Amino acid sequence: MALRAYIRKNPGSTIERAFRFAEKAHAGQKRKSGEPYFNHSAATGETLLNWKLDEASVAAGILHDVVEDTTVTLEEVKKEFGEEIAFLVDGVTKLGRIKYRGVEAKVENMRKMLLALSEDLRVVFIKLADRLHNMRTLGALPPPKQKRVALETNDIYAPIAYRLGMQNLAGELHDLAFPYLHPREYRWLTANVKERYVERQKYLEKIKPLLEKTLRERGAAAKSIDFRAKRMSSLYHKLLRHDLDLNRIYDLVALRIIVETEADCYNVLGAIHQLWPPLPGRIKDYIALPKPNGYRSLHTTVIGPDQKAVEIQIRTADMHEENENGIAAHWLYEQKKRGDEGSRAAHELTEEVKWVQQLRRWLASIPTAGRTQAQSEDFLQSMKIDFFRDRIFAITPKGDVIDLPVGATPVDFAYHIHSEIGNTCVGAKVNDHLVPLDRELHSGDLVQILTQKGKRPSEDWLKFVQTSLAKEHIRAAVRGKSHTLVDRKPRKTELRIVVEDRVGLLKDISGTIARSHVNILSFTAYNPKGGRYPVDKIECAITDREKIEKLVLKLKRIKGVKEVSYQLV
Ligand code: MN
Repeated sequence: MALRAYIRKNPGSTIERAFRFAEKAHAGQKRKSGEPYFNHSAATGETLLNWKLDEASVAAGILHDVVEDTTVTLEEVKKEFGEEIAFLVDGVTKLGRIKYRGVEAKVENMRKMLLALSEDLRVVFIKLADRLHNMRTLGALPPPKQKRVALETNDIYAPIAYRLGMQNLAGELHDLAFPYLHPREYRWLTANVKERYVERQKYLEKIKPLLEKTLRERGAAAKSIDFRAKRMSSLYHKLLRHDLDLNRIYDLVALRIIVETEADCYNVLGAIHQLWPPLPGRIKDYIALPKPNGYRSLHTTVIGPDQKAVEIQIRTADMHEENENGIAAHWLYEQKKRGDEGSRAAHELTEEVKWVQQLRRWLASIPTAGRTQAQSEDFLQSMKIDFFRDRIFAITPKGDVIDLPVGATPVDFAYHIHSEIGNTCVGAKVNDHLVPLDRELHSGDLVQILTQKGKRPSEDWLKFVQTSLAKEHIRAAVRGKSHTLVDRKPRKTELRIVVEDRVGLLKDISGTIARSHVNILSFTAYNPKGGRYPVDKIECAITDREKIEKLVLKLKRIKGVKEVSYQLV
């Protein structure tokens, strides 16, 4: 529903009061695009209204920038709208002060810290609605800022949305960030894909009547059949795994069939397979075995008329709704895939999954309008974020996030940055103030470690440090032993490839790496300051130096590659 229509229908509501208050507070302010600042506040509130969140969230969404960007104080918000809304506005303001500049190893910590600092899931929802509007209007900002915001959205906010089961939102955020993060690839994709999209769409339009007729004849009627075009960003990531060969992407445009009941799903699948032969190995039953984030659907790829492969997805309307918007968790699945986390982390993740699933059941079982007082309180309780209560997240002066147990001190922090920083630590500043080394750190603390060359750790530190990493290093140093034993081994290789921009170069590079049987972990392209040529940064799952040298030689032979260097990280 549009926000203004809601206000007309509910005169005197908290939402209306917030609307008037924020409109007045932002009066005369303009955004970079030249439009009134308040448009952004109203758009944020409207998004929250469409997500069917409670009044307090919508009102706080409209008010979210008044403390940061106008003369209004948090006290005034509290006086006018009460504790709850002031708390939400304050939470969003705090989150806005954390900036992410792309330190990959710290991404997961950064996501956790945002959740932990939020304390209430509604703060996260408001921040996501705020970010959605900022991304939709990103074109008006200066390019360096565009890049930073796009990177933060892509690495932090979109994954948070995805894990909360908001797949639509996650997809849109990734897509909005994509042209700013990978301009070359975006241009290449749009140029190459457009025709195929149109051609695929036409083909599907052509076969749709035949499909409808067959389903009717076999008594497996569909409620609706429509097309789902793959999002650009997800197409790009899939292409990286398939040598950038568009011919190998069957689901560029997929057919999506919505049916009445679960039994209908299987009837329709059977009928389709009698009409067109399925491609072996591509039938997926996510109904019998849902994805860990709760996704349910049947998938199949068939050989349609003119020998063309068509991906078809079949599900009920309920499943569809849940897949797109449900609050679901994806933590465990992804962590298992990465497989390099300790069992402690796995246990914590299980708890998170439980929590999100519980929340999801709540949302499903209680209609917003008909909640009793008790149910409402339980509901709000379930919004409290407490799964990180055993961890704190402190920040280095560069903006890296360090994940530590509750009670951790600057010494623990120092050792988590680097063993040498821990060993030569002589003092610490927390939020710009000198503190004793045994001071307990809190989430969001900005910690700066002061070091002095040649210093050794003190045995007394063992009395207050919390992490085993710090203890091991201190003991080793006190015994006079080398500390290299506990330093970790490199786990991957970072390739830096200076290239001349030419069509198909990316495909050649990725093909060469794939043919060497090396997995690509991540890929970024950027234009270095003052450099003549763009640089591709590729992370590969390989640590064998001999193999890497061979790969580098092969890459150097590709036409258009100027320079290749590598580093084990
Ligand atoms: Mn904002």
